[in-house]
Amino acid sequence: MINVVGSYNVDLTLKVSKFPIPGETVFVDEFMTGHGGKGSNQAVSAARLRSKVKFVGAVGRDHHGDRAMEFLKEEGVDTRCVKRKDAPTGTAYIILDGNGETIIMVNRGANYLLAPNDIEGCMDGDILLTQMEIREEVVKTALSTFPGLRILNPAPAVITDQNLLSYVDILTPNEVEFKEISNSDDLSHGAEVLLKRVKKAIIVTLGEHGAVIFTKHRSVRIPAPKVDAIDTTGAGDVFNAALAVFLEKGYDIEEAVEKANIIAAASVKTYGALGPRWEEVEDLLKED
Ligand code: AMP
Repeated sequence: MINVVGSYNVDLTLKVSKFPIPGETVFVDEFMTGHGGKGSNQAVSAARLRSKVKFVGAVGRDHHGDRAMEFLKEEGVDTRCVKRKDAPTGTAYIILDGNGETIIMVNRGANYLLAPNDIEGCMDGDILLTQMEIREEVVKTALSTFPGLRILNPAPAVITDQNLLSYVDILTPNEVEFKEISNSDDLSHGAEVLLKRVKKAIIVTLGEHGAVIFTKHRSVRIPAPKVDAIDTTGAGDVFNAALAVFLEKGYDIEEAVEKANIIAAASVKTYGALGPRWEEVEDLLKED
């Protein structure tokens, strides 16, 4: 079982032809509501690949919280460790202009009320996948009490506790997060520094260029398939979900990254942050 400890947000997207300046009012061309939050995205994307997935997180006792619970259940995710809090469900307010630029404001709401004692009794399974959209102390409790393989997707890259990385087996930053955490522009040097703490591997995702794996003994870049990308939102979430799925199936890290690249690349060919279902990528994985 894959255990995802993280955030759920409802994404409220407003499409405008141009951003208002302070004091100005503009009309909205289109309003869209969607499910988001890195924790939920990764949990659902892994469940779509037919893995058994448990989501550990918090939503409000409100309408958005009810809808989140229904959505997670419909996607086959185990929600028994999702807590209901007396706070609004996390909400991302996204303004999208005619040039594809975004302004995003996140009200962390219930996500921020998830406390270390809320996850007690929920830390079981083979693989832990967690991110930094919840309190760092909860991430630390999850990592330090989980019995299996621990993957930290350090997004956003807001690590203040220097000990956190010593509980991580595999760290999966994108390039920007990698620079932030390692304090280095040089991948090899930064990885060498981080591998003094991280137990097994650092996997840096490189968008269309795939990903590079650093272990204590070697580094190898695994290219992503060439695709016509139309929406790269959530590509990192899909990558992390697929990585967890294939590691759980017993593939080694290079094979798992190769398959995660194939699935994440497939996901950028369509709109939305969630990954494809197993039956949509089965053939792509066979050809591999
Ligand atoms: P990123 O978070 O942008 O580094 O992307 C995560 C993963 O998604 C990458 O490691 C690739 O596997 C995949 N990916 C993202 N963008 C593209 C793209 N334009 N073409 C193919 N694969 C992509």
